[in-house]
Parts: sequence; C-alpha cells; structure tokens
Amino acid sequence: MSNEKLSTPVQYVKGVGPKLAKLFARLGVATVEDLFYFCPRAYEDRTHIKPIRQLQPAEQEIVRGEIVDIDHHQARGRFSVLKVFLGDKSATIQAVFFNQPFLERTFRPGMRLIVSGRVEYSKFDGIMQVLAKDYEIDTGEPLKIVPIYHLTEGLYPKKLRSVVSTALVNFLQYIDDPEDRAAIRTLHQPEELEKVEAARHHLAFRELFIFELGLLLHRHTIKEETKGIAYKIDQKELERFIELLPFKLTGAQNRVLNEIISDMQSPRPMHRLLQGDVGSGKTVVAALAALIAQKSGYQTAILAPTEILANQHFEKIGKLLAAEKVTLKLATQATSRKQKTRGGNFEEDIVIGTHALLEEKVSFRNLGLAIIDEQHRFGVEQRATLIRKGRSPDLLVMTATPIPRSLALILYGDLDRSIIDEMPPGRIPVKTHFVPEAKRASAYEFIRQKMKEGRQVFVICPLVEESEELDLKAAIDEADRLQKQIFPELSVGLIHGRQKSAEKDAIMQQFRDGKIDLLVSTTVIEVGIDVPNATVMVIEHAERFGLSQLHQLRGRIGRGGEQSICFLIGEPKTAEARARIKVMLETNDGFKIAEADLRLRGPGEVLGLRQSGLPNFRVADIIRDEKILLEARSAAAELLEKDPVGARNCWDRERQKIKGPAQDAGGSALN
Ligand code: ADP
Ligand code: MG
Repeated sequence: MSNEKLSTPVQYVKGVGPKLAKLFARLGVATVEDLFYFCPRAYEDRTHIKPIRQLQPAEQEIVRGEIVDIDHHQARGRFSVLKVFLGDKSATIQAVFFNQPFLERTFRPGMRLIVSGRVEYSKFDGIMQVLAKDYEIDTGEPLKIVPIYHLTEGLYPKKLRSVVSTALVNFLQYIDDPEDRAAIRTLHQPEELEKVEAARHHLAFRELFIFELGLLLHRHTIKEETKGIAYKIDQKELERFIELLPFKLTGAQNRVLNEIISDMQSPRPMHRLLQGDVGSGKTVVAALAALIAQKSGYQTAILAPTEILANQHFEKIGKLLAAEKVTLKLATQATSRKQKTRGGNFEEDIVIGTHALLEEKVSFRNLGLAIIDEQHRFGVEQRATLIRKGRSPDLLVMTATPIPRSLALILYGDLDRSIIDEMPPGRIPVKTHFVPEAKRASAYEFIRQKMKEGRQVFVICPLVEESEELDLKAAIDEADRLQKQIFPELSVGLIHGRQKSAEKDAIMQQFRDGKIDLLVSTTVIEVGIDVPNATVMVIEHAERFGLSQLHQLRGRIGRGGEQSICFLIGEPKTAEARARIKVMLETNDGFKIAEADLRLRGPGEVLGLRQSGLPNFRVADIIRDEKILLEARSAAAELLEKDPVGARNCWDRERQKIKGPAQDAGGSALN
C-alpha cells in the first residue's frame, strides 16, 4: 500500500519551501516519493582522495584541503568568480567557484573543504586549479560515496543531497516493504559502490514487474475471458488460392500466416503484432487474413496512416484477391467528401481507409478482423476505437519499425508477436552513398543514365511543420529546377501533402505507370509506397531527417530485382547528424538502425512519447535494463500462471506506483 505520507509535497520537507519546490518541480520531483525515486546519475567515490601534489589535469578529481586564502569574488556582468586556495601537506591548489559569490561569506581560512571538479592548469597563470562543480565542508567525518544528481539552475548539489537526506530521515519509514526501504537508502547513501547496482536492480525490477503484470493481465483478459470469433478455415482451399498468387510466399510469410491462422481459428480474439522490415511483404499476409475472415462471413477493416497508402492497399489487395468474390471499399477523407457522406454503415468485405474509418458515424455490418498498418503511426486510443466497431474482433497490428525487444515488450507487451525476418528472394540490398555538394553534378549524370535505361527516381525534400511553408516552396522549386535545368528531356513530377487527394492519386498513378521518370516528393511517400521500378533515391538535406525516417524512405527502393542506389545529399553539421548519416551508409538492417536511433535520440523522441504510450519509468532505463525487463516479465507471467487472483490484487494495489502513461498502458487503454 502506497502510504499517504509519501505523497507529501517536497515543499514540506524541512528546508525546502515554495521557491526550492519550484526548482524540484523542474526535475520532475513533486512529492517525497518522487524524491526517493529520483535516481542519481552517477556516484563520486570520496573514500579515496589523492594528495594535492599527485593531482594531474583530468576530467574529474576530488580535492581535499584546508582553506589557506580566499580572493574577493570578481563579478563580470551576470558572471562571478571566486578563487579559494586549498592546501594539504603536499601542495596547494586553486579552487574556482563560479556564480556563487555568497560563498565568500561562508568560507573562512582554516576551514577544510572537499571539492570536486575538473582539474587543469589555469590559462592565465599556469597555476593548477580545480573548477568546482560541487563541494562540501569537511567535518572530519568518515569519507563517503556521494550521489551525483541531475541538477537545474539554482539548485546546488549540496542542497539537493541535504534535502534527500532530510527526507530519508523523516519519511523512509513509510515505505512498507523493507527491501524497497533498504534499496532506496542505498540508492542515495550507499556504503559501498558495489551495492548500488543491486539496489537499482531491485527497484527497476519492481517497477518493470508491475508494469508487465498490467500488460499480461490485460492480455490474459482477452485470451482467457473474452469470447471471440472462431473462424472456419478450409486449409485446402486456402492453399489452392496461395498457389495462384503471383509469387511464392517466403518461409517467414508462411510461418506468420500459420500463427495468424491458428489465432483466427481459436475462439479467443487474436491480439497480434506483425513485425517485418520495410519491403518484407506484410501486405499479402494481411490480404490473406482478410480473405479468411470473408470466407466465414466477416468483414475486415484495414487502417492506414495516409491516403496514398490506403489507395495503394486498396489497389494491391484488390488485385491479390481478384480471383475471389471479395468486395472492397476505400474510405478516406477524400472518398467521403466525394460521396458527401461521412461514415456510414459499411457492407463490403474489406474496408480500407485512413483516420476516416475511426469516425463515430462509421459502422460495420459484421466486423470480424481489424488490421492496423504502420501501427506506430497510431495511438493506443485509435486502436481501441477501431476494435469497438466490432464485437471482440480479431486484431492484427503491423509495423515496420523494428523496435528492439525491450521496447517491444513495453509497448506491445500485451500482444503476441509474429516476425517476418526474411526478405522476398532476389532482393539486392540498396547501396547508399553520401554526396557532397561538389559531386552533385556527377550524381545527376548517374541518375540521367538510369532514367534512360527506363528506371525511375525519387527525390525527397524534407518538410517539417515548423518551416512548412518554406520547405514546401523549396520542394516546388526543386521540382522546377530539375525539370527545366537538369533533366529537360525527362518527365519530372511533384507530390506533396498540400495537393488535393485526387491530384495526389493521379500523380502516384502516373508514376506507377512510368509516365513520370523522376518524382520530387516530400515525406508523404515515406510509408508503404511500393513502386519496384523506382531504383534510385536522392534524399536532400539528409541531415534533417531522423534515422527511422531515412530507413523508411530508403525502403521505397530496392523492391525489384535490380541494384538500387540511394544518394544522401546534405551538410551534417552536428556530430549527431554525422552519426546518423554514417549509420545509413553502414547498414540496411532496420533493426540495427532502430537501435542506433534509440541510442542517439532516446526512446521518448524515437517513438514520440505522447502517442506511443511509452511509460515514464522512474528507476528503470528501458534501453539499459533489457535484462531486468525480461526477468520481470517472466516473473509476472509466473505469478499470473500460479495465482491469477493474487496477480490481479497485486496489480490493483501497486498500479498507482507507476506514474503517468504507464498506468494507462497497463490498464484500460490497451483494449
Ligand atoms: P511491407 O512489408 O513493407 O508492407 P509490401 O507488402 O509492400 O512490404 O511488399 C513489398 C513488395 O514485395 C511488394 O511489391 C510485394 O508484391 C512483394 N512481395 C511480397 N511478398 C513477396 C514474395 N514472397 N515474393 C516476392 N515478392 C513479394
Ligand atoms: Mg506496408
């Protein structure tokens, strides 16, 4: 039971007050409990301190000495410097304190200090100095291991530590579980550095355990308690149909299809994630699942994030299922505008659409299968909305975002997972080159050659919300320039999000039909588009795109049996931008790219915290703690297996300990 005392606002911890509480709020610390789970980012071992003489210029050192002299602080505008000379038996050193002029009144000659910071030779006079990041007055007590916290302007390490320490004295007893109590103490006041990891492990495990328990309970409810549709599948008939497809299914496609089939046959609702890198062939699997539903008299809804993609699915799935008596319907903003209907009760076997499908007025005769393509583009709520349009329909969500296992367990931990880990045969990996401005002309020559051979080209221009108008103009100008100045003899097209749907459709169709040789596009073509004859892609300002976006974009080529080439043009100015480009040059593997993306940007950015429902763990680090996560998940599964009632009670009791989105994720929102 989470004790009320722990919800005491930090403001009421002795020595805090409203002003300091505001600073704590900036660090995400509102209550005493938050403070307890506010993890140090590092520790400083002050149990071994070198004599001053032995100090060398270094990143980080700890200096212990007696104040022998104090300069008056010097102020320059908003900036002030205070120099203090510290000595021990071996030597003296100058300690420099920035922007804390009041220390001049605190410090007295003869006082002993422990100062930590970077040690270097002063650029002015060559004296050895330490740039103080943190200090404490040395009371002669035994030396300690000191936690280093994230700080915010105005909140000094010493103050933060003393607040934590007061909170521990006054509130730690309200933590019920003795193990949690011990772990929290060790986290903030470790006796030995070696014990910190175990304490952190304990707390991270707790947190992940509760979270996973929530997800598994949700899955359990669906799998064990909800009555779904048991589809009748005529395997022979299905096999005969598959024989007639224009290609042979890959082993991976067959495997995931079988997983889906057994879900669909079962009287419990399917609740499955289909993961497969761009181009791995998820669409045909979705089409076959829809066919199975149709054979039992049920409808399928396929939700896609963009109109272009919905159109493409409508066409492709229509073609794939042409030999069967299946009726299809396209439902996008554009079609509903044309037919002057919003929503309506759909009768067709397969309804393919965009967000328009989610409108309240949309209903189905007998929705039995909900498929969500490019799942990561939709929120948890939207998934739930679609499902509610049927009576416990089967759910298949598809994604090309090859998120690492730990993230998958957190985001999709309530779903079963099928993975297409094999590309259709004959694919040749795309070659990627970085093109500096100076070599642009020769890249164009190469492209001209390819187009003369009959291949098609994408030129991608970035478009970001903040500078949308400018970017759009740049894309339009670029199309104009390429047509008039570079490739007058070829046909250049332009597609972007501001065009009317009909116009976009027409342009995509011309491109598919080969009437456009080179298509300048903003990121509207990012997901799903499939034109195998397009074998060259130029990405302008490549440094402005995120890694997963670059990977998605590049996935538009290399879809036929020909060598495809991707040119990245741009001027990466930051180290991170250069790192992104480097990753793209080194690998085509979506999984590696996703991991690099995660490393470079962190999970919040990568997945878009708001819509992904990614929980805000206090101790656990989703990237670092994959192993703990797996342990927590199997422990939660075991508890659920052995004692479902106890598991439910445990979740009800503990769920409030998980903050923010996690609570939703484990609870109601994942329907
Ligand atoms: P994604 O998984 O990115 O959605 P698609 O379903 O669009 O990929 O498939 C990519 C391309 O591969 C399409 O042109 C599709 O027709 C083709 N394809 C799919 N499966 C196979 C297969 N088994 N053999 C050959 N080509 C295939
Ligand atoms: Mg797709």
